[in-house]
Amino acid sequence: MAVGIDVGIKNFAYDSDGFVTPNPQNLKKILKPLARVQRKIPGRQFGSNNRKKSIRWYQVIHERIANRRKGFQHKLSTIYARKYDAICVEKLQLTDMVKNPRFSRSIMDSSWGAFLQKLEYKVNLYVEAESRNTTMHCSRCGNKMPKSLAVRMHRCDKCNLVMDRDCNASINILNKAIPQELRKLTPVEISMRSMKQEDHVL
Ligand SMILES: [Zn+2]
Repeated sequence: MAVGIDVGIKNFAYDSDGFVTPNPQNLKKILKPLARVQRKIPGRQFGSNNRKKSIRWYQVIHERIANRRKGFQHKLSTIYARKYDAICVEKLQLTDMVKNPRFSRSIMDSSWGAFLQKLEYKVNLYVEAESRNTTMHCSRCGNKMPKSLAVRMHRCDKCNLVMDRDCNASINILNKAIPQELRKLTPVEISMRSMKQEDHVL
């Protein structure tokens, strides 16, 4: 069985079967105590026990964050690798996005790159699709529906498909990697198909 996975900021992963994994946002949650400890360090006297303690505490929190993120990536990639023979993802263009200061922390936090690496290592077949237009195109009819990042739903004015934007993207990713004729329809596609037929009846 094959699946397409779209990774993002709001949802860490949205797949073409309709499963959503929210972004854990570990870093943001723990960032506050981390910053608090970091602020204390310069005020502590050099070589003092308090300074050593603060530095050690900073390292402990840092490590804890790293371990949690790693654990999350391992868990999720194992689930996917066990469930599917083929996993299709979008080629990441991190450098462009990291340049955008608004996104940088979230990107670092969600660590898609590290997740995809683990996925690639664990799954039988790992396919990278070109990331062009996977959000814009309608996954059912191919119609172009440009949308800003704020628009969370894909609404096609041609075939009337209404779907979460990330889910639409994940099906596009799957289609790019494995054309629809060569694979089984995903449960989401099947449900959307029956909706289309109902529209015709009406
Ligand atoms: Zn459409």
